[in-house]
Amino acid sequence: MDKYEKVFELAKRRGFLWNSFELYGGSRGFYDYGPLGSTLKRRIEQIWREFYVIQEGHMEIECPTIGIEEVFIASGHVGGFSDPLCECMNCKEAFRADHLVEDVTEAAGTLSAEDLTRVIRENEIRCPECGGEFGEAYEFNLMFKTTIGPGTGRQGYLRPETAQGMFVDFQRLSRFYRDKLPFGAVQIGKSYRNEIAPRQGVIRLREFTQAECEIFVDPRNKKHPNFERFADKELVLYSQEAQKKGESIRMTVREAVKSGIIAHEVLGYNIALTNEFLTKVGMDPAKLRFRQHLTDEMAHYAIDCWDAEIETERFGWVEIVGIADRTDYDLKAHARVSKTDLYVYVEYDEPKMVTRFVVKPNMAKLGPLFKGKAKAVADALKQLSEEELSKDQIKVTVDGEELTVSSDVVDFAEETVKVSGENVIPHVIEPSYGIDRIFYGVMEHAFDEENVAQKAAESGLKGAEAAEGVEKAEKRPEAVKDESEVEGEEEARLVMHFSSAVAPVQVAVLPLLTRKELADPAKEIVAKLREKNLLVNYDDSGTIGRRYRRNDEIGTPYSVTVDYDTLQDGTVTIRDRDSMRQIRAPIDGIENVLYELIYRGRNFESAGKPFNF
Ligand code: AMP
Repeated sequence: MDKYEKVFELAKRRGFLWNSFELYGGSRGFYDYGPLGSTLKRRIEQIWREFYVIQEGHMEIECPTIGIEEVFIASGHVGGFSDPLCECMNCKEAFRADHLVEDVTEAAGTLSAEDLTRVIRENEIRCPECGGEFGEAYEFNLMFKTTIGPGTGRQGYLRPETAQGMFVDFQRLSRFYRDKLPFGAVQIGKSYRNEIAPRQGVIRLREFTQAECEIFVDPRNKKHPNFERFADKELVLYSQEAQKKGESIRMTVREAVKSGIIAHEVLGYNIALTNEFLTKVGMDPAKLRFRQHLTDEMAHYAIDCWDAEIETERFGWVEIVGIADRTDYDLKAHARVSKTDLYVYVEYDEPKMVTRFVVKPNMAKLGPLFKGKAKAVADALKQLSEEELSKDQIKVTVDGEELTVSSDVVDFAEETVKVSGENVIPHVIEPSYGIDRIFYGVMEHAFDEENVAQKAAESGLKGAEAAEGVEKAEKRPEAVKDESEVEGEEEARLVMHFSSAVAPVQVAVLPLLTRKELADPAKEIVAKLREKNLLVNYDDSGTIGRRYRRNDEIGTPYSVTVDYDTLQDGTVTIRDRDSMRQIRAPIDGIENVLYELIYRGRNFESAGKPFNF
């Protein structure tokens, strides 16, 4: 089993991830999040909200997951959101044509469907499933179609990204933020892509969760007011230049922006913010980098684009977040299709004197001449250039009809006026997160298989602590005696090193035996911990050793064991998942001790009286 299989085996067994529709044989590209998976995912999303909504002040909105056709015509998804597909003529299995030729050409991602067909034929590439021959490659649109309303209804699509909601609501958002740039809005929700061949667990799904943020900025000012916060933060950058050499570089955000590697401060700040978020939820910094899009993969309208990538054992480097400067492309596209101007009126610091060409149609003369059309003629005249207006007979088009107007009905002149602002189409900086990929990354980076004997030696475990895995403890409470029963058969311990910030269970409360005299104080502890809003698992089934192992596997940072000593001296054992160290602490105030361990970074060794024998 490789790491991916091990992580998935654990994820299924412990209630993190299940194949959707398993009862009916399943369906590729869909996963259910089980009880622990849902909790872990929600906690990741909650931290994302803390970062983007609470700290950055980009308010959250919620738009429909079904969109009308116009939206996706404007966004370009109807016309161009496709992947090249190739079907096996024998077994009918579908494949991404570009993936099929990856081994024979480096340019796989940039080839047209015809070129892909040619490369497949020339290299005699056959179906990996049955060895059959492939048909012609063609572009397959990834959007799920639906109809809105009964009968033939109106064409709709399941949204392939959440971002369009923020663009479509731009005018409302701008007003909400009192037309002051910069402002941003986020959305966390489901997106749908009818992926051709999803074979990579939650990394490539047909229904997945995105967390996207659209930050609207003044195109003339891409400085970030809070740039200093991350300016000296060192990032691992796999820039376009670094990719030529095949080696990433370490550089501070300040240096990267100054040298032009990262296009500007707002982008630099947001890359660093992403770095902060990903490490906070548990991504291993040694397996995290920011890769710049190469010129030929970057969208034509984008100024700069970086992907946060994490290293995984089976799939290598995987994109989990995209951070791009999309310029004014999206707003202009929606303005065009909706025929509505989308801009923000930006006031100057000081009003400016501006010389401009002013057209003044003479309504007293136009009225009798054009009657009901006079206003439309006047408006059409205002659109003309100085040159067009200089002619004796001026031509204008009104409602498709060409009219001639004599020059004496319109005056024009240059005027110097005081202008206090101008209309600006904002540029958009977009951090776009794939929550399911982050979820998998958190799982894989947290996963470890440890040899308990070695671990005990490394952590300097003594007596009862060491007995947890390898030794027969002599003088020790019964709690530990039970753990020694698992010795041998479970020498390898599977452990999820989740940070307390995301762990789906933060504390396990374990009465040594199910007897009432131990269960009652244990349940009281559970109640006290829950009052503190901690996520608690009361577990009384199986030996204590098995319960520790179970909690290691689900990544519970701390376990509290209630034993017979508890009844005598009012103390309990707190066990630290990562070091497997145990301390004895008074039951009184235990909820505060755990709260401090979990949220305030309190040192474990100081959390109670050391466990002496
Ligand atoms: P994109 O709009 O393609 O740049 O996607 C934005 C983010 O969504 C990516 O960085 C991924 O993390 C995530 N994502 C895209 N497609 C999928 C998918 N099929 N399954 C899961 N996550 C995805």
